Amino acid sequence: MSDRQETDHPLSSNDEIRMKTGVIVNKCYQCGKCSAGCPVASEMDYPPSLVLRMLQTGDPIQLDKLLRSMSIWLCVSCEMCVTRCPMEIDIPSLMDHLRQESIKAKKTNPKAKKIIAFHKSFLDSINFTGRLYEVGLIADYKLRTGAMAQDVKVAPKMFIKGKLNPVPELIGGRKKVAAIFNKTIKGKEEEL
Ligand code: SF4
Ligand code: SF4
Repeated sequence: MSDRQETDHPLSSNDEIRMKTGVIVNKCYQCGKCSAGCPVASEMDYPPSLVLRMLQTGDPIQLDKLLRSMSIWLCVSCEMCVTRCPMEIDIPSLMDHLRQESIKAKKTNPKAKKIIAFHKSFLDSINFTGRLYEVGLIADYKLRTGAMAQDVKVAPKMFIKGKLNPVPELIGGRKKVAAIFNKTIKGKEEEL
């Protein structure tokens, strides 16, 4: 089997990226303004402008590198890159799409394990209470990662200062939030 076949995955064409994210990767002309302004570019294996360039090649090997990269997990969706980009390329949506494809293709970077656990715990919290419930988020995250001792010294201070509420506040529109989750999950299942 050739390298190309081994690394083939759902992100086979930039048309598909355009269809799913609205981003036209070929609009990028590599000015580098996104990478210069990105607050986490120095920590990334591939800074945002290079992510665009790798996608432009359409080479499955480059795409495979992206799905296995840490860049897609380090992006904090701050949108600094979008505001700086002369072509208004929506890089956070692109990163979000790459994260989903990475999970779907089972190619997530092992170093991203805790970040992925945090994403899941965050979404679970929103799903169950309709808003972020910090104590639930922390408990869920610790169970997922086994990091039971992490930040334990900080918790009492936060309780005293009223930053952590032991009882979750439930919002009125929880059914609507649950419907959004169900619709999204159903859509994802149909894609697979
Ligand atoms: S949205 Fe992501 S890629 Fe863009 S500047 Fe923020 S962290 Fe960097
Ligand atoms: S700022 Fe926009 S055009 Fe410039 S390199 Fe980044 S994505 Fe490409």
